[in-house]
Amino acid sequence: MNHHYFIHIEGLVQGVGFRPFIYQLAREHRLSGCVDNRNDGVYIELDCSGKEVKRFIRDILSKKPKIAHIRNYAVSRLPATSGFSDFQINESKESGSQITRISPDIAVCEDCLRDRGTQPHRLFYPFINCTHCGPRFSIIKDLPYDRQQTTMSEFKMCSRCQSEYENLTDRRFHAQPIACNDCGPRYTGTDDSGILSTDYPSLLHKITATIQSGGIVAIKGLGGYNLLCDAHNTKSILRLRQIKQREKKPFAVMFPDENRAKRWLDITDTESALLNSWRKPIVLLREHQKLNPELNRGLTTLGAILPYMPIHFDIFKNSNLDAVVFSSGNFGDEPIITDNEEAEKKLRPIADLFVSHNRDIHNRVDDSVVQCIHNDFQIIRRSRGYVPEPIITQGQTEGILAFGAEKTASFAVGKSKEIIQSQYIGNLSNVETFEFYQETIQRFCRLFRFTPRYLVCDLHPDYLSTRLAQEMSAKTEIELLQVQHHHAHAVSVMIEHRLYDDVLAICLDGTGLGTDSCSWGGEVLRCNRNTFSRLRHLPYVALPGGDKAAKQGWRMAVSYLHHYRLPIPESLKKAIGIEKIEGIKQMIDKQINTPCTSSCGRLFDAVSALLGICYQNSFQGEAAILLEHTASERETGTYPLPRQGFSFQLLFEGILDDLSQHISRENIAAKFHNTLASVLLNNVLELLNETGLSKIVLSGGVFQNKKLLQLLIQQFKDKKIPCYYTRQIPCNDAGIAVGQLGIGAAAFYKQP
Ligand code: ZN
Ligand code: ZN
Ligand code: FE
Repeated sequence: MNHHYFIHIEGLVQGVGFRPFIYQLAREHRLSGCVDNRNDGVYIELDCSGKEVKRFIRDILSKKPKIAHIRNYAVSRLPATSGFSDFQINESKESGSQITRISPDIAVCEDCLRDRGTQPHRLFYPFINCTHCGPRFSIIKDLPYDRQQTTMSEFKMCSRCQSEYENLTDRRFHAQPIACNDCGPRYTGTDDSGILSTDYPSLLHKITATIQSGGIVAIKGLGGYNLLCDAHNTKSILRLRQIKQREKKPFAVMFPDENRAKRWLDITDTESALLNSWRKPIVLLREHQKLNPELNRGLTTLGAILPYMPIHFDIFKNSNLDAVVFSSGNFGDEPIITDNEEAEKKLRPIADLFVSHNRDIHNRVDDSVVQCIHNDFQIIRRSRGYVPEPIITQGQTEGILAFGAEKTASFAVGKSKEIIQSQYIGNLSNVETFEFYQETIQRFCRLFRFTPRYLVCDLHPDYLSTRLAQEMSAKTEIELLQVQHHHAHAVSVMIEHRLYDDVLAICLDGTGLGTDSCSWGGEVLRCNRNTFSRLRHLPYVALPGGDKAAKQGWRMAVSYLHHYRLPIPESLKKAIGIEKIEGIKQMIDKQINTPCTSSCGRLFDAVSALLGICYQNSFQGEAAILLEHTASERETGTYPLPRQGFSFQLLFEGILDDLSQHISRENIAAKFHNTLASVLLNNVLELLNETGLSKIVLSGGVFQNKKLLQLLIQQFKDKKIPCYYTRQIPCNDAGIAVGQLGIGAAAFYKQP
């Protein structure tokens, strides 16, 4: 007997070719009914028998489009049929504050690349897309995901696109950003003499000619502008560094394909899968042959990315370029530029060729950065291709807004039982970045039908995120919870791995304000989502000059040596000057502007300076990264370990000893890593014994250090101790918001 069935499907089901898929499936099954998109998912209505609906659902689950993800589905039945005569796709509808998933941006697919050679109206068309690829999050303004709600609403479909859009057998059936040479967005280019080109093939020729002759090209991409130059050309790279006010921070390089990248880089299977995935992130890979030292001075890895927009493929196809610097179009700490007018003003004057297009970027997204840890991955910068995929939790999160930290800012919102992390935002102390942060909070509220009911922020009173949260709370009387930085780091891991019972958390970090108003950053906590206690920490040492000591690592070298009453080696005296060093010692002794810190990041800074690797950070984490990359892979020894706890007296004595014996810094750096890992292991073993806990979580920015993280994972594995770290949530401060939200969810909704 036939009934009227309603099927409600939740998950990533919009913007991934889901409705067309349902349409075709219904036709195959010879079912009549309809399908429509609403803000809370896809609704299907069918007139059929119970057997038929079961078979239909089974096929949905097994045959759904590659990128689609079904989180949940519900079927309800009405006794009477509603007399559908065929199957149709209905207009999208609004319903309440529920939302469905929004797809991240998807790299152009193989089929589209092929279509560019065959479809007359899309020959060479650089904005080609289909139901399985193209821009998504970067162009969406509101739900449901329909062309009218995206920045493609400006472009009226031509009759050919319109008929493909309506043709159920077409690959672009209901592809919202559908476009062609006749009706879609276009590139325009202006060179430094102001000559305009609008014809794509000749523009492309100009791009490749400019890069090949050593010029810098600004090109508007998917989530913002990019600056490109030849990765083999040292002069161009140095000029780009000067323009971007980016002295040493490594550049990512785009290669035409994986094989070409292999000329310089080692690529494992896991890394290959990441590199080639539809998300197309920057993957940090080991260099076996130096491509160009100016790209990544002192590092053994290079960030590699493969083409993800048609124009990227065209650049390589139409030139003999095999490695192109692919950097974001911004200056210093400013956010990546997305707006055409701003780009005209700021990028056009500095670029030899300025290439723009007329499809607006609504949501700014940088290229994401990932690295592999053994056979797993770890996100370092979560943006294009990943945002706004939610993290599913088991508890209630609705209405919680978590503000994150400061230097590597991001925020998170709670919807139902999900946590949606914002894209990577950047350093809030930059005015434009702080504006970007506030604007993105507003956009998330609208896009995700989100109304804040609870607020969570860091303990630090001077973080701009904290101030904003306090202002919002004062204005709206919404309850605000302030949580300790490292507790939030630890809970971010608990969220991703759905851990509820108490864990032993090792939080190794740059800085976070502690409950004793010292600067923490080397903490072993016992915690759950509700509470934490600090069991042990790295020794408190002086942070001479406060923030200045975080920039000038040599101050920490002096601080540590002074702390352990050890002599300052000649090499450091020579590099810094005796007067300056004595000045720091006096500052410490007289306790002038010298808070105390247990930061592990500062320990790395100290050792890096002591070895003469880096005296001063030109970007966050530089000294530590260089120290990691200096470490020899063959050296497995350690310095003598303290009998108990976290004293580094023997470590520093050992390093001074090695320095005086002219042991190579590669070996010293490696012994330092090995020692730190062993000290951590010994402490953990003692604490597991004392507390009866069984699980370890690892979090904090220091765990971007692959060498240290892999050493620890291996040690815990050998001892059969379960150890967790985040993959989807950055372990640096960009992941803090998720932890804050988790702590907020436990507190506000009174759940474990
Ligand atoms: Zn496609
Ligand atoms: Zn068209
Ligand atoms: Fe942190």
